[in-house]
Amino acid sequence: MKNSNNSIPELLRRALTAQLDMGLGELIVAKPEPRPGLPEMGQPEVSRVVSVMDLFGQSSADQKLPNYDSLEAHYAAICQCQQCPLGATRNKFVYGVGSPDADLLFIGEAPGAEEDRLGEPFVGRAGQLLDRILAAMQLSRQQVYIANILKCRPPNNRDPLPDEMAKCSPYLDEQIRLLNPKLICALGRVSAQTLLKTTTPLGKLRNRWHEYQGIPMLITYHPAALLRFPAYKKDTWEDMKMLKARLDGMK
Ligand code: SF4
Repeated sequence: MKNSNNSIPELLRRALTAQLDMGLGELIVAKPEPRPGLPEMGQPEVSRVVSVMDLFGQSSADQKLPNYDSLEAHYAAICQCQQCPLGATRNKFVYGVGSPDADLLFIGEAPGAEEDRLGEPFVGRAGQLLDRILAAMQLSRQQVYIANILKCRPPNNRDPLPDEMAKCSPYLDEQIRLLNPKLICALGRVSAQTLLKTTTPLGKLRNRWHEYQGIPMLITYHPAALLRFPAYKKDTWEDMKMLKARLDGMK
């Protein structure tokens, strides 16, 4: 049936969709020539390039990124990333650590100071506590995989910004595709809420199973929170027992 909606927004939408179909992801928005008799107010100051996806209200990070054959190839492709301002302030890019054949993937929110210095996730005091938790589960960091949603440290360990998460999370998704773990454990509020796209408090998300990318996911406290609030350790251990029981049941 013929589309009778020929409004300007609809015509613009169709033109941009056609542009995307042709593989053109950006528009050059030029400063218009001044027209005699018309005020210059409201004219753009400079020419600029805008993403077509952004015009649709969709982050350019939502675009389909290429798939890679291995974690090494993926790392090599993205380790110089400057997609968000954190690329300019990081010391080291923090990709992930562990076994590429791991059944269990832990996901935190972002590198801290020690991680930024050494280029490895969870190596500060919180990381040492995670190692002790793993040991209590009769696991080691060589048997699991550990990564963060953000690969670069936010200054002063502030919470990641939504735009930083949107730009960086496709990298985590590709890591998950390559690892194909049996189970995921999200560590901490920011990681859990970002992956589940929710604002539900962590206390209401833990102690039950969720899914991320079709993979069963459990949520528990971030080890850094356990250092500040040791009372959360009991609940965390209950979560870890749930995680270990399901993992063992999958072998
Ligand atoms: S945080 Fe992620 S998106 Fe931002 S520069 Fe680092 S790798 Fe790139």
